[in-house]
Amino acid sequence: MIKVTNLTKVYKSKHKFNTRALNNINFSLDEKGLVFIIGKSGSGKSTLLNLLGGLDDVTSGSVKVFNNSIHEFKEKQLYDYRSSMIGFIFQDFHLLDDLTVEENILLSLELKKENTKELVNEVLKQVDLEGYNKRYPNELSGGEKQRIAIARALIKNPNIILADEPTGNLDSKTTKQVIELIKKISKDKLVVIVSHNLNDAYEYADRIIELSNGEILNDLERNKDYSNDIRIEENAIILPMLKRFTNDELELILNESKKDNIKQIIQDETKFIKYNEKQYEERKIDINKSNLSMKSTFKFSYLFGKKRLVNFILSSFMAAAMVVVLALAQSIAYFDQTKLIAKELKENDTVLSVRKNLDSTQSSSAINIITDAEYKSVVGYEDVDAYKLYTFNINYTNGIALTTHNFPSSRLNSIFLEETNGTLVTTKEYAKKVLKLDNLEIYTGNIEYNPAGVYVTDYIADCIIAYGNAKIYNDVLGEYFESGKFGWGYINGIIKTNYLKTYEDELLKIKEIDELSDLDEDGLNFVDFLNNSLAICYSFEENFAYYQKEDCITRDFQYCLNLTIDSENVYKKLSYVTSSSGCGKVLNDDEVFINYSVYNNIFDTYYTSSNVHTFEPHTIEFETYDNYKKIYYKKTLKVVGIGGTTEGRMVVADNVFKELRNVYTVAYGIYIDGENLDNVINNVINNDFTSNSIRMNAVQTMSKAVSVFNKFFELIVFILLFACVFIITSFGIKNVKTNIYEIGVLKALGCKYNRFLVLFMLHTMTIILFIIFFSVFGFYMFSDLANKILVASLSELAASRIMIELEFIAFDLQLISFDCILIVIISLLSTLVPLTLLKRIKPISIIKAKE
Ligand code: ADP
Ligand code: MG
Repeated sequence: MIKVTNLTKVYKSKHKFNTRALNNINFSLDEKGLVFIIGKSGSGKSTLLNLLGGLDDVTSGSVKVFNNSIHEFKEKQLYDYRSSMIGFIFQDFHLLDDLTVEENILLSLELKKENTKELVNEVLKQVDLEGYNKRYPNELSGGEKQRIAIARALIKNPNIILADEPTGNLDSKTTKQVIELIKKISKDKLVVIVSHNLNDAYEYADRIIELSNGEILNDLERNKDYSNDIRIEENAIILPMLKRFTNDELELILNESKKDNIKQIIQDETKFIKYNEKQYEERKIDINKSNLSMKSTFKFSYLFGKKRLVNFILSSFMAAAMVVVLALAQSIAYFDQTKLIAKELKENDTVLSVRKNLDSTQSSSAINIITDAEYKSVVGYEDVDAYKLYTFNINYTNGIALTTHNFPSSRLNSIFLEETNGTLVTTKEYAKKVLKLDNLEIYTGNIEYNPAGVYVTDYIADCIIAYGNAKIYNDVLGEYFESGKFGWGYINGIIKTNYLKTYEDELLKIKEIDELSDLDEDGLNFVDFLNNSLAICYSFEENFAYYQKEDCITRDFQYCLNLTIDSENVYKKLSYVTSSSGCGKVLNDDEVFINYSVYNNIFDTYYTSSNVHTFEPHTIEFETYDNYKKIYYKKTLKVVGIGGTTEGRMVVADNVFKELRNVYTVAYGIYIDGENLDNVINNVINNDFTSNSIRMNAVQTMSKAVSVFNKFFELIVFILLFACVFIITSFGIKNVKTNIYEIGVLKALGCKYNRFLVLFMLHTMTIILFIIFFSVFGFYMFSDLANKILVASLSELAASRIMIELEFIAFDLQLISFDCILIVIISLLSTLVPLTLLKRIKPISIIKAKE
């Protein structure tokens, strides 16, 4: 049944030192009987047995079992061969410690797909260990273990049992038990046993193959004619081999040896005689396909996983904690301030009013003029309504400087501002929206409409009254009030907002606080409403700017300008520009008249009223800058006269005055209305615009602070990713590594690769599920907390320490899903890769690694 021809096995070592463990071996074995393979240590016994069992591959030659060419088998066929035809018994038993006796035995049976517990009891009875089903291997003695191992081999009812020094680790008494058991088994199947115990061989073997240096030294079979009795021949006493003589027999030998004819006592060496090649009847047996059942795969997966439970939980906790920290770090690393600002603009600016951002060199009260190109790039050609906020504003404080957050608390008018925030040229419909009114009720009195005039809110009218410029609303109407940039404003009407009643609570709140930052978010929103809606002027005149530029009453106007003389770096500030019609002297367009002390300052002269007639005209360069120090008006003027006018006042021709007025009637804010403002909001942010609200300023400061850390957190994300990959990978690899021995045994028993895959993938999947659960849960818990901490710390940083609930770190399902998918991939890889590597390794080397 087994035919070995020219079998050679060479172990190739890494150091180019090859071992020829078997050298051209030939023999064949019958279907039954006990074959001993004996020989010195290192003679190649185990190698031969492993080759017979398909645990290792041959170098050359052939091994045929029931006409199946084992040496040509593919990996899968070898598994089938091992699981269905071969029963292995190892010197070290190789029982799996985590399984009970019954599970160990069943493991082998399940590989053959016939699962019956009765069979277990039957084989346990055969090995004389009935009732040991539920014990664990470490509760058994060596002999018992080996008998369980034999039971495991027997239950499959294999054609061949291979045993490599099965008694090598046993004492003599248990050895006898085990050998006798094996002998019994060999009555009806082939048992090949490796042993170095000659006595056992001679006592039990049907055949003895002796190896030496990888070659067959002797091939013997039991002599059927051999007698175990003491024979007395003519001149010799012939003793049987290895026999324990009785006292009678010893006496017989003694007496006989005294006889004269006895010349020698010899041992009968013919107990085993040279093996006589027999003609075996060859029959072919096909190898059954078999594999571990899925159910058992699950069961063993659980049993193998159980012993690493603590490690398992700790690893998943650690990995999950890492993922949570990773996700938090990612939230900051990939924090997009644009997105947050857009979201805030959309959700919190009831009317979207935007201005150009100030840069860090600009004071918070500065304004930036919006050019036509900039206006278009924000509003674009979207289907939205947009209205310009012009620089035209009204002062009503008479120079009393009050700021928004430093109210004298004793007065009702402590909520009043000192000037308006510009003029919004819009429609009545939109004004209603801006002012949050259901209908627009305007008090106009009996005054004449002026297209260059504005409508003010009752709030502004109250301010004007509070600062003493007027006593009743009628005084406010039709009056020219000092306007921020030039001349005087004409008030066409007063819009009733009923603010004192509607915003009673908010106004009270403002009065109670010391600093703006003490306000809650609702309070802040009201202050923004006050600044952007109540404290602006309205014009429903489309050509407002034109009228302002052309028809505004020409009077003295307050204006700060810089004067550059002859391109030298001498700057002098002048506060007022006066049109020549205001001073009675007609000037040419390139002429200017200034105060002599200013002139003296500029040109280092000493003119007084007494020597002013000696004055000689000079050319000066007149420039105005925007807040970016960009010149936007430049003119060369000739100083044609100096005099005792108000210091800091210069007088120019009417045309120049108009030019200047034009320069200063400009838009610096845009109010936007429409259904879908997403695109516009993006434009706003991308063009460096933002809402001017106090709240939005704080949002921006805080967002900017978070984005500063983008790069740093990207690094942290990188490091954390590394750590995550490391933890998960090391768990995966360790998991396979810890069970490497089990894999070896299962492989030796015939369990196929796909089942290992399932077995360990189940572990991996479980840990993945754990990690995903813990990390999603953890991220959910901690994102909120981390965000709160971040907001609290950042509000310290925001200019006015305003506390605004912002979502810098949000529970981002997409982000955490991404991390989880990453983990799944890494986990799968870290299990797949070592398993794939293991696939190539012979089961015998895995088992050997443990020994
Ligand atoms: P035995 O079982 O008779 O003691 P083995 O069959 O185990 O002997 O070994 C035969 C020879 O092959 C020895 O010289 C041994 O060192 C060598 N050998 C066994 N296994 C390996 C291996 N995996 N790699 C290299 N050499 C090996
Ligand atoms: Mg050996």
